[in-house]
Parts: sequence; structure tokens; C-alpha cells
Amino acid sequence: MNIKNCSKCGKIFAYDGINKLCPKCRKEEEEEFSRVKEYIYNNPGANIQLVSEETGVPVKKILRYLREGRLELKDEYNNLILACERCGKPIKTGRFCDKCVVELQRELKGAVAKNESIRKNKEKDKMYIAERYKK
Ligand SMILES: [Zn+2]
Ligand SMILES: [Zn+2]
Repeated sequence: MNIKNCSKCGKIFAYDGINKLCPKCRKEEEEEFSRVKEYIYNNPGANIQLVSEETGVPVKKILRYLREGRLELKDEYNNLILACERCGKPIKTGRFCDKCVVELQRELKGAVAKNESIRKNKEKDKMYIAERYKK
């Protein structure tokens, strides 16, 4: 039999080759999961922050459930749980809505281009100064 340290509490337990958690922690995780599931079921319009607050389960973990597809929400509720961090629009996955992703990428590119032109201007100045010293 394999012995392993629980990746959550560090306690030694009999490893079954699948679970990284000891039976106690596994049970806790399962309870957390069912708490989230139940809460969402009863409050389909709740956003993820509220679900986290009400269930005591970290947002990160809830997002993981969603990403792993463990939380199966009805389609009409599916997009109520997550909100775009930028505009607050309901989204299904990730941190931003499609529109904001595009805009953020554009802004990022714009910022890079701006830095690039500042750098070029500085180089021009340097060259100008160098030219002057030559004379
Ligand atoms: Zn444990
Ligand atoms: Zn957005």
C-alpha cells in the first residue's frame, strides 16, 4: 500500500493512486463543493463573489469547479455567475468579456507602440546631440 502526505493538511494517509488528499480533507472538499452547488442551485442569479461569501469557499476554487466542468449550471444561469472584471457584463469563463479582451489587447498594443515611439524620439535626440558635437 502506498503512503502519501495529504497535499492539503500534510497528514499521512493510504494513497489510492487517484486522490492527493487524505479522506478527511477529501470529505471537506466534497462538502465545500456541494455547498457551492446547492447555493447556486438555490440562488441562480448570485454572482461569484456572493457565492464565495455565503459558502465560505474561495472564488478561485469556485472558478476551478466551473472550469473543470464540475459545476453544471443550466444554460440560462451559466452566464450569471461570472462578471467581466472590466465592465461587469456577465461572462461564461475567464476574467473579461470578449469585447474587453479585444479592447485590452488593443490598449496593450497601443501602450507598446507609444513606448516605442518615445524610445525612438530619445534616440533621435541623442543622434542630434552627437551630430552637434561632431561639428
Ligand atoms: Zn488532509
Ligand atoms: Zn467587459
